[in-house]
Amino acid sequence: MAENDIITIDGPSGSGKSTISRLVAARLGFTYLDTGAMYRAVGYKAGRLGIDLADGPALAAMLENIDLVLAPGEGDTRVILDREDISLAIRTAEMGLVASKVSAQPVVRARLTDMQRRLGRGGRVVVEGRDTGTVVFPGARYKFFLDAKPEERARRRCLQLREKGQQADEQDILAQISKRDRDDSDRALAPLKPAADAVIVDTSRMTIDDVVSFMLEKVEKLGQNRQNDSQGAGKIHP
Ligand code: C5P
Repeated sequence: MAENDIITIDGPSGSGKSTISRLVAARLGFTYLDTGAMYRAVGYKAGRLGIDLADGPALAAMLENIDLVLAPGEGDTRVILDREDISLAIRTAEMGLVASKVSAQPVVRARLTDMQRRLGRGGRVVVEGRDTGTVVFPGARYKFFLDAKPEERARRRCLQLREKGQQADEQDILAQISKRDRDDSDRALAPLKPAADAVIVDTSRMTIDDVVSFMLEKVEKLGQNRQNDSQGAGKIHP
C-alpha cells in the first residue's frame, strides 16, 4: 500500500463500523480516526454551554476556539475536550442524537471536515463516519460502506451500552437509531449514503472476524489492481 493511503468506512450506527475500523487499522498499522466522536464532542460542548443545537452562528462562535484532542484508547478513542476527558460522557444514546442534530449544521460540518482532512492528510489512516468516502476524502482509494438490518444494529448497540454499564432497552434503541438513520440520510448536507465507488458490506450475518478478513482481502486486491494499472500505464496495447 502507498504511504498516503486512506481507507474510509461509512455506515449507520450499529453497523459495526467502530470495532471493525479499529481492527482493520491495527492489522495494517494505520491510525484510526473516529469522526463520530468529533460530532459528539461538539454536541457535548454545545449542551454544556446551553447553546441551541440549531443556532448556527452560536455554534460557529463556539467552534472558534474549541480545544479537541483525539487519542487512541483501550477500546474507543479517547476524547479530550478543553483538557477534560469526555470519552465516556459522549458515548450515550442521548449524545448520539445530540451529535446528529449539530451535525446537520453547515458550519459544524465545514469545521469538522476541515479538521478531519488535516488529521488524515498524512495517510495511513482508517477514517470512520457517515460521509468520509463521499465528502471528507472523496479521492480515497479504499472505501467501504457497512450496513446491517435495523433490528440487528439495535441488538448490538444495546449490548455495547450494557457493557459500559448503561441501561438499554432494545425497542427504545431501535426507535432511536431509526430516527438517527432518517435524520442522517435525509439531511441536505453530506447525507449518509455509500460513495458510488464504495464496497457495500451487509454485516447482519457476519462475525466481526469475517468482516475484517473480507475487508483486508479487498484492500489487498484493490492495491494489486493499482500496481497493475501503474505498471500498465504508458504501455501500448494492441
Ligand atoms: O458514529 P457515531 O454514532 O458516533 O456518530 C454520531 C452522529 O454524528 C451520527 O448519528 C451523525 O449524525 C454524526 N456524524 C456525521 N458525520 C460523520 C460522523 C458522524 O454526521 N462523519
